[in-house]
Amino acid sequence: MEPQRSPLAEVKGNVQPKVPPPPAPSRLPLSGSRLKRGPEPMESASEPAKKRTRGLGTAPQTDTSRPRAPRLSTAPQRHSQAAEAQTKHSSLFRLSSPCIHFSSPRAAAQRFPRKTGPFPPAPAPKNQKPVPTVPAQKPAASAAPAAGGKKPGKRPAWDLKGQLCDVRAELQCCREKTQTLDRENQQLRDQLQEAQQQAQALGAERCSLEGELARVQAQAEQGQRELGSLRARVLELEERLGMQEGLVHMLQREQLELQEERRTLATRLEEQERRLQASEAALSHSQAEAESLRQETVAQAALLAERGDRLHGLEMERRRLHNQLQELKGNIRVFCRVRPVLAGEPTPPPGFLLFPPGPGGPSDLPTRLSLSRSDDRRATLTGAPAPPTRHDFSFDRVFPPKSGQDEVFEEIAMLVQSALDGYPVCIFAYGQTGSGKTFTMEGGPEGDPQLEGLIPRALRHLFSVAEEMSSQGWTYSFVASYVEIYNETVRDLLATGSRKGQGGECEIRRAGPESEELTVTNARYVPVSCEREVRALLRLAHQNRAVARTAYNERSSRSHSVFQLQISGEHAARGLQCGAPLNLVDLAGSERLDPSLALGPGERDRLRETQAINSSLSTLGLVIMALSNKEPHVPYRNSKLTYLLQNSLGGSAKIRERL
Ligand code: ADP
Ligand code: MG
Repeated sequence: MEPQRSPLAEVKGNVQPKVPPPPAPSRLPLSGSRLKRGPEPMESASEPAKKRTRGLGTAPQTDTSRPRAPRLSTAPQRHSQAAEAQTKHSSLFRLSSPCIHFSSPRAAAQRFPRKTGPFPPAPAPKNQKPVPTVPAQKPAASAAPAAGGKKPGKRPAWDLKGQLCDVRAELQCCREKTQTLDRENQQLRDQLQEAQQQAQALGAERCSLEGELARVQAQAEQGQRELGSLRARVLELEERLGMQEGLVHMLQREQLELQEERRTLATRLEEQERRLQASEAALSHSQAEAESLRQETVAQAALLAERGDRLHGLEMERRRLHNQLQELKGNIRVFCRVRPVLAGEPTPPPGFLLFPPGPGGPSDLPTRLSLSRSDDRRATLTGAPAPPTRHDFSFDRVFPPKSGQDEVFEEIAMLVQSALDGYPVCIFAYGQTGSGKTFTMEGGPEGDPQLEGLIPRALRHLFSVAEEMSSQGWTYSFVASYVEIYNETVRDLLATGSRKGQGGECEIRRAGPESEELTVTNARYVPVSCEREVRALLRLAHQNRAVARTAYNERSSRSHSVFQLQISGEHAARGLQCGAPLNLVDLAGSERLDPSLALGPGERDRLRETQAINSSLSTLGLVIMALSNKEPHVPYRNSKLTYLLQNSLGGSAKIRERL
């Protein structure tokens, strides 16, 4: 039996070969795919709805805590019904759509009235027979399938009206279906919009979640970095811990050593404490002793001061007595020194010169000299030579030829001490040329200490005594000058450089308008403090004399040499000052010229020199005479020599208290 075909199937069979299937309508992808794919054989009626629901929104599957848009609870049910209807009628709709075009639902409705549709708008249950919508004119044809529960049978070819009616009914059905689909579409649009909103919300949520994820990732990276740094820190700390442990071990070892050392030190400390106690006992004993010594020292200091005062008093008394002794001995003393006969000189006859002993016998120092002299001009009446005449001389001291330099200095050392005490002293060497004046004053050839003259010996004595006096608080200084007076002109024997050997530039002047001190202008005054400096000065003076020496004139014998030493002493503690000059004068030769001799041109000069020498020596004699007679006028100005030495000849002691 051939199954009955529905009019729609028939139309399908007529139309399908002519027209290709149209493109999928502009519906949602899910619906379109379903239309394309068609229902699955094993798919249940609700499966499409589930798929659509799954495809439309994955939001229900997203587990979020945020509020969601209300879900479409009714849509799937209705949609499932519509989908079921669509499933049943999709093939019909797709086949008929190529030949039926709707400009609008209303136009479709005008062309295909609803009541002419062959199917009801909603699908009926399977056991429910569809309600036929056959036209009223042909109820029999259309009623048959409805009554029998089958599809209406094929209308006869002639029943165009009936076919038209079927088509209309089908059209109506399609229109309703379209409306249903529109509504469904609208619902789906709404769902889509809602889904888009949800998607936007979810996108925003996703963005925030991504931001949060990025932040969490950043935190995780930060955490990783911190973890890395913490691990490095842990490693470092572990390393330090190891080092500290090693240090602790080392310190423990040191502690043990120190404890051992401490025990040793404690033992030593106990020993030291015992010693300390003993030392403290000794110290207290020593302190007591020191205290007693201190008291003794104070007493000694007081005694010392008292003795110092006494010593000073005794020193001043000594000076006074010394000066008194010198005055008693005579302020003006004359010593006579006889030099030995030099090689080449005729030996004097025996008894020519005698040194009679003093009243005390040979132990007394010789003070007398007896000269035996024969006068050829005297003759006896018998013509026999006259007997020699004896001339006796008395001096303060006579030095025979064998007397050494030290003996001579011993005699005048007391005078040098007077100069140190503040009393001016003048020592003259007087005699003929060649009598030994220079030898006595300056000494013999250098290098033999026995032949040292009075000047170096006097200065050595002064330096030595000054050093001794320093222990009593006296401080001494010495300034030396050395000049010669030739033909009443003064020349500096200590001149150096271009001034060597030149005379006439020096003048004797007072040091100041109110001062009595005399000074030689352009002369060097050299501070001396040791023998070496004095020897250098004597050597320089000797050189300066040699420069002025001529072939005809031994100038050193024709001039006066004056070595002056200005002595200055100070006792700072007692405010005392003393000062006096020590003059050591090597006078010019005292020989006289025979005026009866014929005078040549050189001898006239020699005569003039001699006259000047004699004049100055006479003046010196007159001055000494005036001083010894204490005459009111002393002719110092009559010669340069006495003028230069006036303070030393007639001056008094220069001891004064410092202002
Ligand atoms: P003056 O200076 O008086 O002219 P000197 O001092 O030049 O005499 O002496 C002349 C010489 O006599 C020198 O050669 C010197 O050495 C020598 N003479 C002088 N006195 C003595 C003496 N006491 N002992 C040895 N020789 C002396
Ligand atoms: Mg001489």
